[in-house]
Amino acid sequence: MRDQDRIAAKLGHFRPSLTLELKHIVQERLAAGLPVYDFGLGETKGDLPPRIGDAGARAFQEGRTQYADPAGLPEVRHTVLAWLGLEDQYQAENVVITSGAKQALFNVILAVCNPGDTVLFDAAPWVSYLPQAAAASTRHVVVQPKAGDANYLKVTGDDLRRALQQEPAAKVFLLNSPVNPTGQAYTASEVEDLLQVCVEHGVYFLLDRLYWRLMFDGLFYPEPRVDEETKPWLIQVDGLSKNFRRTGGIRIGWSVAPTDVTRAMINLQSHYTSGPAVPTQHAALAGIACPYSNELRDDLQHKRDLLLGEAPKMRGVKVWPTAGAFYSFWDVRGLIGKRAPDGSLVEGSDELASYLLREAGVVTASGAAFEQDGYLRISFATPDDHITGGVAAAAEAFARLA
Ligand code: PMP
Repeated sequence: MRDQDRIAAKLGHFRPSLTLELKHIVQERLAAGLPVYDFGLGETKGDLPPRIGDAGARAFQEGRTQYADPAGLPEVRHTVLAWLGLEDQYQAENVVITSGAKQALFNVILAVCNPGDTVLFDAAPWVSYLPQAAAASTRHVVVQPKAGDANYLKVTGDDLRRALQQEPAAKVFLLNSPVNPTGQAYTASEVEDLLQVCVEHGVYFLLDRLYWRLMFDGLFYPEPRVDEETKPWLIQVDGLSKNFRRTGGIRIGWSVAPTDVTRAMINLQSHYTSGPAVPTQHAALAGIACPYSNELRDDLQHKRDLLLGEAPKMRGVKVWPTAGAFYSFWDVRGLIGKRAPDGSLVEGSDELASYLLREAGVVTASGAAFEQDGYLRISFATPDDHITGGVAAAAEAFARLA
């Protein structure tokens, strides 16, 4: 066997998960005693709500560790519908509990796509979407908004229609809202337009709503229309990871989908994970079975406001407003092409992110990882002093570019 054949070609061009790469750099700097302003990780800080941890611990203590239904525990599947307000529209049979939202998304692509099918993404797709599509041997197309960034890279029904003219065989359109990385939130009519186009074209509308409880300024999550017309095409993915503190490592997500798609996903899941760990399903259940507290959302809104207040200190950077999730998107195109004090050229946002980390200890995520070179993603789910100190340090580092 030739060396280049040892690993499947479809996996060859993945960059390692950006999140994990960033975590590694942060740990290295901290170990070396260097300052770090951490805007990198998409993870909230603070304590795990005790009821979630207690329920998980209790499940272990009570020996709830036997094999279970690969679709997830029945009580969790029921409670997911209540959590999403979908009890009247769906049955528990439409729900699959997964090892994080990642697996739910992957299940969907594997269940509905044949090799060579096309998956459409919105204009700034989250970093794992493309590798997931590639691992399922599908092609992907990033839908480009005609308005460019005038509407903060949100794609419209017309944009999607245009993309479908080019890609008539597309199977799935994946929309993430609130959007990681841009912090935008699609309005009810924007979601409805996109859903309508999918229904008209017989394309699955895959909605990743992982940050749906984290909407600011009194906005509510606009629920997609669920009726006989939309149900065959609408698939929703959500999970425990973002709407609570410290829950990303619990690795529980879920999908709500048409019965045939759900059946295919359960079949698939029964052959590779046999469903997520049972004790963590109990932990997740404790999280979503109670009335939701908006404490995290309010804290994040405070952090967003703090960041927006500090942002004018940075020259050459346009900071977008954030409507939901915990990301701020910085348009740094004005700094691309400049040189660092050591003479190195800032060719794109990868180089700028690396310069910021080297020069100022400011950890950001390069927009290039989200198909948007010329931008940086800032996660403001970070302590307040990281926000004030980090923006000041970034402003100084930016000012040293010439
Ligand atoms: N979708 C989006 C938009 C995300 O930001 C993430 C996690 N960063 C995921 C899916 C995956 O979530 P999980 O950790 O539950 O697998």
